[in-house]
Order: sequence, then C-alpha cells, then structure tokens
Amino acid sequence: MSTTLQLYNTLSRKKENFEPLNPPHVGMYVCGPTVYGDPHLGHARPAVTFDLLFRYLTRLGYRVRYVRNITDVGHLENDADAGEDKIAKKARLEQLEPMEIAQRYTNSYHRAMQQLNVLPPSIEPRASGHIMEQIALVREILERGFAYEIGGSVYFDVEAYSKKYTYGKLSGRVLSDLMANTRDLDGQDDKRNPFDFALWKKASPEHIMRWESPWSVGFPGWHLECSAMSTKYLGETFDIHGGGLDLMFPHHECEIAQSVAACGHDAARMWVHNNMITINGQKMGKSLGNFITLEELFAGSHRLLTQAYSPMAVRFFILQAHYRSTLDFSNEALQAAEKGLQRLLAAQKTLPHLKPSDKSTLDVSRLAADCRAALNDDLNTAVALAVLAEWIKNINALKVGTEALTAADMEKLNADFTLITSDILGIKDDSQADANRKDLSADLVNLLLNLRLQAKSSKDFATADKIRNELDALGVTVKDTKEGFEWSIR
Ligand code: ZN
Repeated sequence: MSTTLQLYNTLSRKKENFEPLNPPHVGMYVCGPTVYGDPHLGHARPAVTFDLLFRYLTRLGYRVRYVRNITDVGHLENDADAGEDKIAKKARLEQLEPMEIAQRYTNSYHRAMQQLNVLPPSIEPRASGHIMEQIALVREILERGFAYEIGGSVYFDVEAYSKKYTYGKLSGRVLSDLMANTRDLDGQDDKRNPFDFALWKKASPEHIMRWESPWSVGFPGWHLECSAMSTKYLGETFDIHGGGLDLMFPHHECEIAQSVAACGHDAARMWVHNNMITINGQKMGKSLGNFITLEELFAGSHRLLTQAYSPMAVRFFILQAHYRSTLDFSNEALQAAEKGLQRLLAAQKTLPHLKPSDKSTLDVSRLAADCRAALNDDLNTAVALAVLAEWIKNINALKVGTEALTAADMEKLNADFTLITSDILGIKDDSQADANRKDLSADLVNLLLNLRLQAKSSKDFATADKIRNELDALGVTVKDTKEGFEWSIR
C-alpha cells in the first residue's frame, strides 16, 4: 500500500500526505446533484474527479466507503434561505409529484454517469430519506446553544458560533467582512443576522414537501443533509470530503459549522475541491445561453456544438487538466481530446499483437512508476496522460521495429497500460462504430424476420423455418405473436 499519496487540502491550503484514519479503510463523502434538471457539463467534472480518486484509492489497496448524496429537498432557489424549493418548483411547473421529479432526474443523472464510466458510490443517500437524522442534528445544535428558534424555523447562530470557533476557515472569509457585505433580503426578516442560515424552515401553506418536527411542519435547510448523512454513514470523523469549488461557500462552510457545533470538532480531515468548467471562457449559466446538458453534448444538439462528442471524449477532456485548474470547454478543445483518446485506444488495441524479441530496448517499469508518481502528486492526471502519450510513441516504435521488448516485458507493458487506462483512469472504447454495429445487428434481425413473415404469407414454410432455425443457431430466440414477431438474444 502506498503511503505517499498527497492531496491538496483546501482547509490547510497545502498538499498533505494522505493517511486514512483507520487504514485500510477510507471514508469519503462527496456532495452529489440536486435532482431538478438534466445533468449538465458542470456535473461531469466533480463526478469524474472523485471517481478517479475512488478508483485510485481502491487500486492502492484501500477499502473505500464512498458516499455521494442526492439532494431531493431543501435546496431553495439562489442557494438562499428564501424562495421556492428547486424540486417543488419544477414539480409545480410540470404538474408532477416532487418525488416524480426527483426520481426522473436521478435516473437521468445515473444514465449520464454510466455513460461517463463513473462508478456508482458505495452508498447514495437521499436527503428526504434522512429527515429524522436531520431533526436530531438540529436538536443537538440547539442544545449546545448555536441555534435559535423563531416562528417555527430554526437558524444557525453564526455570531454565537464565532465566539468559540472560526466561521469562514474553509473559504478564508472573515465574519466582520461578511457582516459588512450582507444586506437583509426579502423573506429573511425572521433571522437575527442575514448571514445566519436555516437548519429547519417552517413550511408556508403552499409548500408541498413538508415533515413534522418539534418546531413546525416544515423542511430541513439544504446544508444540513450532508452533515447528517456523512455522520450517519462515515462517523463523526472521516477522511475526505469533496465537491465542486462552487460549493465551498456557503454550503461547505455551513457544513463545517454544523458538525463543529454538534460534535465539538471537524468532521472531515481533508477537503478536496475541483475547479469549474467554463465555456469559451465564460461561466456556464442558463441566462447566458451556454448551458449544455450532457445529453446535448453526447448528441451534438446544442447550438454551440459543431458535432456530437462521445462520453469518453468528455471524460478524457476532463482528465487532461489537473482537477484544481479551471477547464475551458470549446469545440477545438473537445476535438483535440477526441484525437488524444483515439491515439490511446489505438495503442491499447495494438499492444496484444506486438511481436516479442529476445532483448528489450525500453525500461517498461517506468510506465507504472511514472504514472503512480503523477497521481500520488495530488492526482496529476495531466502528467499521467503525458506519460501515457510517451508510451504511445514507444508502442508505435515497437510496431515498426525501431524498439524491441522481450515477451515478459511485453506482457508487463500490456498489463500496466490496461490497468492505468481502463481501471484507474476509467477510459474505455465507446466509439460510435461499436454503437452503430449494435444497432445494425438489430436492424438485420428485424429485416430477416420481416422476410420470414413474407415467406409465411406466401406459404413458403421451408424458407420461414430455415430463417427461424438459423437465427436460433446464432443465439436469437424468435417468438411468433399476433402482431408478427418478438425476438431476444440468449
Ligand atoms: Zn453537500
């Protein structure tokens, strides 16, 4: 097991040696999506970043419990404590149950994650399934004097907390600046201070997502679920908390305050944040018209796209940059990523067909050693891909005979290349050609079965039986129905 992995801890603002609390177990919590719309480009980066960390830690021999939540309640518009619940609003507009909305977009998130070859987390808890735990946490914070109840709502008392602890240590914000810069917003009048945040909100009569609590029939504040669910599944202290940089303030800052207020200490030892994706140099936003969903990206159906991009090209594009750098999306950058991906996949296909020699001119141990060094250095995927690019050149040189490897070295190169590319970086061949081939075989079976129907109607039973028997021999089970036929592959 490697002990040299260093990660950038957002809390200490430096790279720190990663040593799990209870080796070989690692507890990792990552903030997942709020499920009120189709997953977009902004969802892809944290998903791929923490998938890589999950895969790499697992490969290093750790047993990782990876918890990634689904926010299906309490996330109000503009991330503020006022306004409509994002999911309830969508449900109202589409005349559906809020849980139908949450389920629909959880499904589309899962579909996109599968396409990006992002592994499912070990546990995927939903906020609405953990109301009891959230109420218990509010009670603890109230008992310790860091919250107050007003008109059925409970707010976190940032000022009281700041007398004992430091509010703002993750994002580097100073409370006095926050005090000077925040102003009262409509609908927040019942708070003592505008920077206090809701732990529990009393539901207004039109609010549909509501639960009983000691304070009112209402709903939990958005920040609460992550504190409650991380503690439930990972304990009061765990190793890594991750998420996008946009969540650092206020979401993660509030999470820290809640955990410290309830337990007296930080919950996460390390905070890891991925940077954001910009589009042609601009922040992504619905009002800017540059909001691209993953479905549009994979289909090429957004007006900013000159073509469709495969999920693997998007994954490769994300991995090309270090997770803490900003990443600018453009058609040119995606096309370059697509070319890089094709070179990598072509080299991987070439490897098993290379002819061994009786001596080696290359040191194959460098590939794994150099990639490991890059990933141990704060998951530097940009350097790891540069190492792979060097070896793609070597593989091409082996193909034309300007370099040589013994059979044993060739086997090691093949094994290491596949391990790094497929298992750790999570890159697989999802090329359009494969997808088309699958569609083509379905079309061909339908074509044959339609010819069989014609043969049957002209009483040519010999041909009809021949088609059915030969398809059966190929593993296709054909069933005659009233409408015509049904078939399945065994
Ligand atoms: Zn969260």
